[in-house]
Amino acid sequence: VGVVTGDGTLLSRLEQPTDARRGARAVLTDLQLAIRQVQDSLGRIEGIGVACAGQIQPDTGAVVHASNLGWRDVPLGPALRETFSVPVAVENDVRAAAWGEFRFGAGQGAGSLVTVFVGTGVGSGAVIDGRLWRGAGNAAGELGHTQVVAGGLACPCGQRGCLEQYVSGNGFARRLEQAIATGAATRLADLVGRDPSRLTADMVSTAAAEGDPLAREIWDDAIRSLTMALANYVTLLNPEVLVLGGGVLDAAPKLADLASAGVLALTTPLARASLRIDRARLGDWSGVVGAAALARER
Ligand SMILES: [Zn+2]
Repeated sequence: VGVVTGDGTLLSRLEQPTDARRGARAVLTDLQLAIRQVQDSLGRIEGIGVACAGQIQPDTGAVVHASNLGWRDVPLGPALRETFSVPVAVENDVRAAAWGEFRFGAGQGAGSLVTVFVGTGVGSGAVIDGRLWRGAGNAAGELGHTQVVAGGLACPCGQRGCLEQYVSGNGFARRLEQAIATGAATRLADLVGRDPSRLTADMVSTAAAEGDPLAREIWDDAIRSLTMALANYVTLLNPEVLVLGGGVLDAAPKLADLASAGVLALTTPLARASLRIDRARLGDWSGVVGAAALARER
C-alpha cells in the first residue's frame, strides 16, 4: 500500500504479506486497515487504486477469478468504496503496472507501449495511442497463455504449448519436477535439494552455461519462446516502447538481453525502426503507482 501524489511520487509505503490462505474476508480486512494506516499520516485521500491479480469485473471492480489468491467473486471494489467513500479503481495487476510505466516509468512521454513481465507467470499490458487496452471482456494481455509450441507442454489453463510453460518461474519448476520424476540426471535437482519450487532463473542460466543438458534445454526454450512472443507482439502492435520486467528477468538479465536482440531480428523493418526496448523502472511499485493514476483519472 502506498500514498501516491498526482505526479506519481510515493509519499509513504507499507508492505505486509497477503497470506491468502486465510480467505478473502481476512485479506480485505487487512487491506482496509493498511489503507487507514497510510491515510492517517495524510488526512484526506482522493481515491483508491488497486492492482489485483486475476480477472476483474470492469464496472464494479469485483474480482471474478484470481487463481493465485484462490478468489472467486470477491467484491473488492465495492467493499473499499463502501468503507472509504471515495472513487475506487480496481485494475488487473499487470495492466496497472503497464499504466504506471507508461505514465511515470520507462514509457513516459511515449504514445504507445507494451510491457511484458516474466515472473512466476507471464503477464503483459498494452497502451495503444495513449489508452490502456483492456479488451472487450476486460481480459486483454494474457501473453502467458498465447501458444508458442503447437501441441506442446500442458498448461493448467487447459491449453497446450502456452508461453508460460517455457519461460516463467512456474514453467521452469514444472519441467524440473518432471525431470526428477523420470530420473533424468541434472545438477539442477541437487541445486534445489530436489525441491523444484526452489529453482531460480539464475540457477538455470548458470547450469546451462556449465553444460547441464536439462538446464540447457530449458534455457534455450526460454530464449526462443520469449523472443518469438515479444517479436509477434511488436509486429502486431508496433509500439514505441517495449518494457521488460519481472522476477525471472531480474534474476537472469541475460535472458532479457538475448530476447531483446532476437526481437530486432524478427520484426518488420518499420516496427523495428520505431521501437525502443527498455527495462521496467518502477520495480515492484509499478502496479501501485499505475493503479493510483487510474483512480485519479477516473
Ligand atoms: Zn495456458
